[in-house]
Amino acid sequence: MSLANKYRPKNFDTIIGQDHITGILKAKIKSDKGSHSNFIFFWPRWTGKTSCARILAKAMNCQNIQDWNPCNECANCKTIDEGKTLDYVEIDAASHTGVDNIRDEVISKALYPPTILKKKIYVIDEVHMLSKWAFNALLKTIEEPRENMAFILATTEIQKVPETIISRCQVFNFRKVPEKEMVGRLQEICKSEWLEYDENSLSLIAKLSEWCVRDAVKYVDQVSILGNLNEENVMKFLGVASEQKIIEFIKYIVDKNQDALFEEISKLTDKGVDLQHFAKQVLMYLDAHLFENMDLYIKISEQFGEILAGIRNYPYPALIYKIVLHKHIHGTNSIVQPVVVDKKPEPVIEKIEEKITSIEKSEPVIEKIQENSESNQSTKQEQPTNNAQNPDIWTRVVNRIEKGSLQKSLKDLSSISSLENWVANVKIINKFAQMALENHENRDYLEKLLSEEYGSPLQIKIEFQSKEDLFAGMIG
Ligand SMILES: [Zn+2]
Repeated sequence: MSLANKYRPKNFDTIIGQDHITGILKAKIKSDKGSHSNFIFFWPRWTGKTSCARILAKAMNCQNIQDWNPCNECANCKTIDEGKTLDYVEIDAASHTGVDNIRDEVISKALYPPTILKKKIYVIDEVHMLSKWAFNALLKTIEEPRENMAFILATTEIQKVPETIISRCQVFNFRKVPEKEMVGRLQEICKSEWLEYDENSLSLIAKLSEWCVRDAVKYVDQVSILGNLNEENVMKFLGVASEQKIIEFIKYIVDKNQDALFEEISKLTDKGVDLQHFAKQVLMYLDAHLFENMDLYIKISEQFGEILAGIRNYPYPALIYKIVLHKHIHGTNSIVQPVVVDKKPEPVIEKIEEKITSIEKSEPVIEKIQENSESNQSTKQEQPTNNAQNPDIWTRVVNRIEKGSLQKSLKDLSSISSLENWVANVKIINKFAQMALENHENRDYLEKLLSEEYGSPLQIKIEFQSKEDLFAGMIG
């Protein structure tokens, strides 16, 4: 079993960094087990909400409650875990089938009492994605509360949930897991798995996981294949550098110490650090510490912007570091000329730019996107590109996405606005997709698909354009 599954929280006490919520939920189980109540879990992060929903569902049904935690052993707990009963239903409102499920499962079946469990429980994840119709139907069901039924609604965007629903639920705001608690949890796991670790490597993992406990545990699992959890192995396996390395590197730039810089670049390469990722890490660091030395850090950011742009065109990333850093240290004006490695992206760029200019000029965005994808299809056939058989590269990428919710959030609601220097700027017009793409796994996945479709490596840069109301109308 993977560590992520093994250490998935199974009761309130093992949920990390949410004591302010789990304490209340336990008290609720203790005081009014039988009374009717519905819950909204608001969680700004993309992953993890449903684990907590399931724990609550089990706690409300457990036959052998342990200090107000579910026992995970009794028939009811097991039935919920195994998903063997229609008394416990998890619905992903963001999926294609979500809306149909609301109709079939909730509206028509909610009236019947539970058959096995004490309480019938509906967990609706990403509830803000429901249509107006579905919200109204849901409201009707919630309005006539029954003791033997509860709704647990989970969302990353509570502002899109109608006030009428919110006012009938108890709202719980989850918070970002603090680094200290996350590292503490990873330490516990390392100890019980007999893994040797140092704290720096765990905090590096915590940062990389962007505060998603599940991802962090997954990284621990992966790195442990190489042996101890030390910075070297984390760097090697995940292709990233420690913060210490980044600070050192910046110091060498400030000191204009070219020898040290060049040596460091070789060391990073030897350690398997992805130099493209390293440039991004440096930029992230500079962004977070900008106020410490604004002018200088902005200047260094520009150098790294140049490095990043160069890396995409050069097959030798270490060389581009050296060229750019040398230039800045010696104040020369030599301009890095891109070397064309593979196919030329120009024909695609033109088409996409055309498409985007018209999107930008247009008023009702959705209509234009649809029009454009049509016009794109017709014009693209004239293009002599290597993948000319199939017109819209982004449409193909979106069609290939296997995760239903991600696909739905991007379909017709995103497009490539420009493509240059091997960077595809992807314009998205809903917050939901933005959240999804803040998850580096999702982003990497899309980059992989796009690169495959395109035929050479491409980076994705996200541009967000708020069209929330429009989007809400679309799914209605
Ligand atoms: Zn139980």
